[in-house]
Amino acid sequence: MSVGVAATIKEKLDIVELIGESVQLKKAGTTFKGLCPFHGEKTPSFTVTPTRETWKCFGCGRGGDIFSFVMERDGVDFPTALRSLAGRAGVELSERTSREDAQRKRLRDALDAAISFYHQVLTSHPDGAEARRYLHDRGFTDGTISTFGLGWAPDAWDALTSALTRRRNIAEADLEAAGLVSRRRSGRGVYDRFRGRVIFPIRDASGGATGMTGRILGVQGEDLSLIHI
Ligand code: ZN
Repeated sequence: MSVGVAATIKEKLDIVELIGESVQLKKAGTTFKGLCPFHGEKTPSFTVTPTRETWKCFGCGRGGDIFSFVMERDGVDFPTALRSLAGRAGVELSERTSREDAQRKRLRDALDAAISFYHQVLTSHPDGAEARRYLHDRGFTDGTISTFGLGWAPDAWDALTSALTRRRNIAEADLEAAGLVSRRRSGRGVYDRFRGRVIFPIRDASGGATGMTGRILGVQGEDLSLIHI
């Protein structure tokens, strides 16, 4: 996929200025802070980081880029947020580019959901205990594990698929397009590609997940990689 129109729009718009229209922001070092518009709070835990073009609320956990901010603020879907910000940035959208961007966004959402699922298994599920010990033995602290969002893919055929399609309403087709699952030979249904592996997320400069690698415990097993999306 080529560099998306979303990236061009992000470059043209100032995230602090955009968010500053709905949230009173105060400079705090390299970030800006304010009261979160999405949950009630009296002390500011809503942070905008212009160098990463991201925002994050440490109170309610919401966060993302300018598109997800507009989606949350206006209660609209990604294509609508894209159109609105494209207009503001003076970027022309074609049918095709908005379709491609909506697709890329869905794949990234699927990937983000997978990474947080695997991270949750590693940090708080009995299935992740052995991998936790393995990582601790290799000098990974809990802090590192959480900063890098490391995870554990359970040794099962449908752990991820069932968690993401049933609980998160993510389409099988999107999991497949993101490289997270493979289609069964029969053509009916899919199975998890990452099984019994430690998951290392791959991120771009702005902190968004673009892929991940899975490593088998202990052995010199081959890493299983996702294509970057
Ligand atoms: Zn919040």
